[in-house]
Amino acid sequence: MCRMSRAAACLVLAAVFFLTACAASQAEYYVGFSLSSLYVGGEAVSARERAAASSAIADLLHEIESQIGADREDSDVARINAADAGERIAVGEHTYAILTLCKELFEETGGAFSPALYNLSELWGFTPDFEGQYSVPRAEPPADQIAAAVALSDFDDIILHEDGTVSKRQAGVRIDLGGVAKGYMSDAAAQLLAERFGDSVDAILSVMSNSVLMGHKRGSNASLGYTATIENPRAVVTAGSGASQGLFVIGLSDAAVSTSADTYRSYVYDGRIYSHIIDPATGKPSANGVISIMVTVPRTASNAGARADAYSTAGFCMPLTDALAFYASLAEERGIGAVVITADWSYYVVGDCTALNRTEYAALVSPDTVIEDIFERAEIADARDEVVVDAREEEYIRFVAERSGE
Ligand code: ADP
Ligand code: MG
Repeated sequence: MCRMSRAAACLVLAAVFFLTACAASQAEYYVGFSLSSLYVGGEAVSARERAAASSAIADLLHEIESQIGADREDSDVARINAADAGERIAVGEHTYAILTLCKELFEETGGAFSPALYNLSELWGFTPDFEGQYSVPRAEPPADQIAAAVALSDFDDIILHEDGTVSKRQAGVRIDLGGVAKGYMSDAAAQLLAERFGDSVDAILSVMSNSVLMGHKRGSNASLGYTATIENPRAVVTAGSGASQGLFVIGLSDAAVSTSADTYRSYVYDGRIYSHIIDPATGKPSANGVISIMVTVPRTASNAGARADAYSTAGFCMPLTDALAFYASLAEERGIGAVVITADWSYYVVGDCTALNRTEYAALVSPDTVIEDIFERAEIADARDEVVVDAREEEYIRFVAERSGE
């Protein structure tokens, strides 16, 4: 799942300081999280209490990970993946809860979000076995291998039974909860904090690029609300032009935030980017011209963190105009916000979301700083499914190819 080497998360939250409680010392666990800006009833919580809460969260996340980690030999997911057709696998409460939610998300996204893609992720070299090699250039797998993996990648082949067991229609189907697990974990950790400190807790709880912003922003810049910084997915080629960050979403409160991008787990081959998000319809890495998506989900929605995580992944697996329409419908139904950045270095803002470019944000927080904008805001009505890769994106692709020795 989420290894510490990927701690360069896609989302960095403005906070006074971070207390990072990572599980690096416990070698068998990979998940990292941070708990910061922790207030109860408007008062900052003591370092001792915060450390105790962090420790309880670490235990909870380890328990979840031990159930759902696809690469952990004895996990529920590993046992489901190894099972024969029809075999009933008894699973833990977290596995069952995530799979139940995944059924809903699979329907809601028209199958774009699918947790049954482990065979395809493995074929394309993005499973944890390939850790350290994700950026190595490689040719596409042969079409017959892709077709064979697609035939074993249907989430409808996973059956949840009322007695808490799980079975499969075909033995070869394998699941991977990587597109929703960290969001689910962020929800679970937020719930733990709410149980421990009560309703008046304000805090930022992040599991890699998935955060739950509990309550309201306290401390510095509180009037802006919580700010989610969307990392610039092209920072390696724009580093000279001021701060590396891309966009800023301000005014957030009591919301979950998730970002997916093609930056870290991806490679360049033959002039194009292949990323770890697989389009279930084609069996290939997503190719809709999207390079980063951030989604915010109000915590009034159930499983807000898991939803934000799944929604931010799903938008990579639909034509751009469909993805924008999907987010617009979720904005209406659930009050979500979305910021979609595309390969022509444009960004689209959907729903309840105040997304600012760097110049606008700097004007609010440090008026003397002069910085260039990197992405240009585009109108949703002007979006086209054919995203034109422009010269700056081509430069980025060349840079990544040269860096990885293609
Ligand atoms: P990250 O894990 O880097 O935060 P995402 O939340 O976008 O990124 O999840 C991507 C991961 O989800 C992949 O690495 C893979 O494990 C899994 N995955 C890939 N494609 C899909 C998809 N179409 N639907 C659901 N999960 C996916
Ligand atoms: Mg996701």
